[in-house]
Amino acid sequence: MPDVLPLIELAAPTLGEAERHALAEVITSGWLTMGERVRAFETAFAQLHDVPDAVAVSSATAALHLALAAHDIGPGDEVLVPSMTFVATVNAVVAVGASPVFVDVVAPDTPHLDLADARRRLTARTRAVVVMPFGGYAMDLTAWRAFAEEHDLVLVEDAAHCAGTSAPTGVHGPAAFSFFTNKNMTTAEGGMLLVPDPDRRERARRMRAHGMTASTLDRDRGRAVGYDVVECGHNFRMDELRAALGLVQLERLPEWNARRRELSAHYRAALAAELPAVTVPFTAEHPTTAHLLPVLLPAGTDRAAVMAALRAAQVQSSVHYPPVHLFTAYGTVDPARKLPRTEEFGARELTLPLHPALTTGDVDRVVATLGNALAVQHRV
Ligand SMILES: *Cc1c(COP(=O)(O)O)cnc(C)c1O
Repeated sequence: MPDVLPLIELAAPTLGEAERHALAEVITSGWLTMGERVRAFETAFAQLHDVPDAVAVSSATAALHLALAAHDIGPGDEVLVPSMTFVATVNAVVAVGASPVFVDVVAPDTPHLDLADARRRLTARTRAVVVMPFGGYAMDLTAWRAFAEEHDLVLVEDAAHCAGTSAPTGVHGPAAFSFFTNKNMTTAEGGMLLVPDPDRRERARRMRAHGMTASTLDRDRGRAVGYDVVECGHNFRMDELRAALGLVQLERLPEWNARRRELSAHYRAALAAELPAVTVPFTAEHPTTAHLLPVLLPAGTDRAAVMAALRAAQVQSSVHYPPVHLFTAYGTVDPARKLPRTEEFGARELTLPLHPALTTGDVDRVVATLGNALAVQHRV
């Protein structure tokens, strides 16, 4: 029998006895949604990110939606967006009735939104800009804030990759975090919204639950009788089970992010030594939550063949991201618009496994397997 190598997963949540216990406690308590655990999770998340308060929601997509809606972004408005992002960033803009305007990235080795290109895409209708710190690599939000202030725009962070960041977040404008299963911490599905303006924050909190002025818990506890509905809202609530998971995960997030950074440093060193033609965007010193380990393959590489070779050797890989402007649903937004740096990055990017349970030995195996896959191609 041939030895079967253990599978190296692209991403994997860390779940254990603490999570099991936290879920069981919620069941025993009998109160399943929008209760004291949700509130405690909001407070703890805000504290970790050094902001006054936070709004727990059902996903980062919902958080992005509320961030825009609570700032009155809607029909007739244009929102500058990256194409090098997960499609949810752009879907949220369309969901509030606004028009996305795609902006290119700085360069393939810096897949962050390009300020100079954003400036070129401004019109009289531009009302907001969404930036996405790719892979959790911090962006220069001070420069973006100056740009936003100059043109009276709302600066929104799609911070889906940024849970636990030590960079200032949710202070220059709203920030949306994701707790989907493959993120740095998880509640299975879930998200968090930070909003610096307290009135807009409370508006987002109301819009999370149908625009109602009081919650079921408030009424249950006699803190409110009846309720009013002051504007149209949604059901973007988080439940107690998810918040209980979040509270447990949040405690270990700093340790997990530190481990991700150690593994990223090991990848950078191993790739530089073994496969110098494969580069890692950003630099080893760039502040990051190390959500992803993206690499750029040499131009002209058959990426699908590399991914198949990795899969055959029990190594998962992925692509972050297929550019949004090339999807069928978004190809008609501005068909003449070319985003050459986004397209080059999207064509050459490969995401390698990165999660806290990996060992440096796993990283060495991924790099060796990638080396073999590339060597086969270059011989052909
Ligand atoms: C995961 C992700 C989202 C969506 O998060 P959900 O919580 O699944 O809605 C949005 N933007 C980016 C960049 C993401 O990676």
